[in-house]
Amino acid sequence: MVSIETIAVIGAGTMGSGIAYAAALGGYRVALYDVAPEFIQRGIERIHTNLAEGVARKKVDVQLAQAARQRITPTHTLGDAANAELIVEAAPEQLELKRQLFGQLDALAPAHTIFASNTSSLSINVLASATKRADRFLGLHFFNPAHLMPLVEVIRGEATSDETLRVALDVITRLGKTPVQCKDTPAFIVNRVARPFYGEAFRLLGEGAADVATIDALVESAGFKMGPFRLIDLIGCDVNFAVTQSVYNAFFQDPKYRPHPIQQQMVESGRLGRKTGRGFYSYE
Ligand code: NAD
Repeated sequence: MVSIETIAVIGAGTMGSGIAYAAALGGYRVALYDVAPEFIQRGIERIHTNLAEGVARKKVDVQLAQAARQRITPTHTLGDAANAELIVEAAPEQLELKRQLFGQLDALAPAHTIFASNTSSLSINVLASATKRADRFLGLHFFNPAHLMPLVEVIRGEATSDETLRVALDVITRLGKTPVQCKDTPAFIVNRVARPFYGEAFRLLGEGAADVATIDALVESAGFKMGPFRLIDLIGCDVNFAVTQSVYNAFFQDPKYRPHPIQQQMVESGRLGRKTGRGFYSYE
């Protein structure tokens, strides 16, 4: 069984930085890659802020936080990232982009390296087919904010080997997270259940039944930690829209999953949520 010492995280955005945080705190060396140095730097700053917050809240030991910071290496080439024993991809939710990335990594990485995608909705079998290592390929779907949320969906593709699954479950457990095994169905479990949750909220908003704050307040009063619009701002309107489109198409345009024009307007006007300072709410 391959022993995982270094985890490469591909994409240092919202999810990649959270996954890198969890991996470094779990004792792994982390190679953090993105397409530009400033994106890697931004990801590392986010990790440092989250570690400092964890220490301030007494959730993270100060020495463990310091050790975690030192385990993360900014990594500027895919070739360097490919030296890890486990690669977790957290690049944008675009099939062709991810397939191209995995094809490149496959040519660079040693045979024993395990590949994982953090995709929210794309097929693990389809992504794995861009490589010659479908047996060492699976989905590891972390939830946002990944440095705090314990759940990780572990998606086994048709060809994923028992050993790959075992190694991945072991890593997730070592991160202090809770793995839940899923099949390779569109959007897996959580995002499948979440689509109608967002969809109905958009329909209510579109019909003028209530405004954003009222819908969120009602849902939160029923016990949800966040209403649909507050949650979409956290996820990113672009990510949420991409996942909705992907699920809609995976079910051959089943109207149940149809995206709403409001989603498109939010993305096209650059109101992506917290990451751009403005979404359904303002964060400036
Ligand atoms: P994001 O936009 O915050 O980050 C994506 C990062 O990938 C950016 O830093 C970008 O520069 C980088 N990138 C772009 N092209 C790249 C390439 N070719 N190679 C490497 N990096 C590249 O997006 P995110 O929210 O972190 O989402 C990443 C993945 O995680 C998506 O597949 C998404 O569906 C999934 N996901 C997102 C959430 C969420 O709530 N945001 C939750 C679970 C899973």
